[in-house]
This record gives sequence, structure tokens and C-alpha cells, in this order.
Amino acid sequence: MTMTEVVLAARGVTAGYGLAPAVRNLTLELRVGEVVTLLGPNGAGKTTTLLALMGLLPTMSGEVTSLGRAVKPGRTAKLARAGAILVPDDRGIFPDLTVADHFRLAAARVDRSRLESVLDRFPALRELTMRRAGLLSGGEQQMLAIAKALLVRPKILMVDEMSLGLAPIIVQSMLPGIRDLAKEEGIGVIIVEQHVAIALSVSDRALVLNQGSVVLEDDAQALLADPGRVEAAYFGSHEEVA
Ligand code: ATP
Repeated sequence: MTMTEVVLAARGVTAGYGLAPAVRNLTLELRVGEVVTLLGPNGAGKTTTLLALMGLLPTMSGEVTSLGRAVKPGRTAKLARAGAILVPDDRGIFPDLTVADHFRLAAARVDRSRLESVLDRFPALRELTMRRAGLLSGGEQQMLAIAKALLVRPKILMVDEMSLGLAPIIVQSMLPGIRDLAKEEGIGVIIVEQHVAIALSVSDRALVLNQGSVVLEDDAQALLADPGRVEAAYFGSHEEVA
């Protein structure tokens, strides 16, 4: 595994609902250990992009390759077993099940040493293993969702609406952890995030979607240094992206 290895590639992907494309001509590459943030206003096509990358939505044109295999509808479970995991915006949490139940559900046989190393990343969960997930705070639920995903040692991790409903202070404390796990475990990470500056500060690259098209793509540091470009991409004064 080298840090330049591409784990996920989308080329010219158009996808949507019925006959209407919600994402057009999307091209994206994700490498080992890299954090890519998808930005853009409501309805821009961020969730649709993740669904297409996981084969949960058929592509109308273009192709997606994930972990060396072509992504096709119906193969999502196989893709997940191969190590591509999507944490959906509802976090896939069952309110009546305990934290420990979620771990058991995530992995048929929970590897204790893996569980320990995941809990080292989210020590707050250690005290909460017997608590029902519905009673956890929003931040704890997001930690649980990510911890559960990490248990299976993913190679690709996508987190939709990473900070939905979380206070900025919680976001600020959680996002650096995402960058660390990407780098330390060599996981390619895609996050959908509304807190632009914090997201850019932990990302390698970012794409801004607007009305289904990628209207801006650059190194996160470059975008952080020039917030006006991101703002313009949100509000429709688009730069051309080849
Ligand atoms: P948000 O930040 O609001 O979640 P988003 O960038 O994730 O937005 P998507 O959820 O991908 O955007 O939606 C893109 C477009 O597709 C929107 O116009 C939305 O109304 C439409 N859309 C999303 N889901 C469906 C669906 N199941 N059926 C029909 N249209 C849909």
C-alpha cells in the first residue's frame, strides 16, 4: 500500500432520480490516507454523489471503480465487505440498541484488539458501552457511527453530513480525529461537511458542488487561504473546472 494508490475513482459520473440527473459529469479520485471534503449548498448533489460512489444509485453515464472493482448496483454489500463504508446522514444508529450491540452488529466476530484501538480513538465511548444509542448525545452518536465503521478496518470511509446537528465546538474537536485516522490507518476518507473552514483545515482536497456540477476543486490549503473562491462557488459565480 502506497500513499499514492487510488482507492476510488469516478469518471464522468452522471446519476440521479428517475430521469433527472442530480449529479452531472463528476470526476473524482481518492487516494490512500487522503481526506477529501465535498462542499456545496443544500440540494447540490453531495449525498447523491456518495450514493453513486457506493453503487446505491445506478449511474446514468460514467463509471466508478472502488478498491479495484467496477461499482455496480447490487454489489454494495460486497463492496462494504471489501472495505468501502458509508456512514449515512442518519448515522445508521438503532436507538433501542446499546453501544455494545452496535459493535456486535458491525462485525460478526468483534476483534478485541481492533475494538480496543477504535475505542482509543473515541475514549468517551468506553464509559457508554451499555447505554442505549438513542440516549447518546449527537456527538456521541456520530462517534459511535464512525467507531462502528472502523471496526471492520475499512479502506474507504465516507461520512455524509459529518456534523449534522452538532455544536461547532464538537465539530472542532472531532474533525482532526478524522484526519488522524486517515493518515495513521491509510484510509481514504470523503466527508460531506457544512463547516467549511474546519473541514478544509483537516482535508487534503475539496470539491464544491453546485446544482449537480463540480464548480470548484483544489487543495484544501489553497481554498483555506482564499475563502472568497469557495463563497463564490456556493453562490453561483462559478470558476470553470475542466
Ligand atoms: P443537502 O446538503 O441538502 O443534503 P445534497 O447536496 O446532499 O443536499 P442531494 O441530497 O444529493 O443534495 O440532492 C440533490 C438533488 O436531488 C436535490 O435537488 C434533491 O431534491 C434531489 N433528490 C435527492 N433525493 C431524491 C430522491 N430520492 N428522489 C428524487 N429527488 C431526489
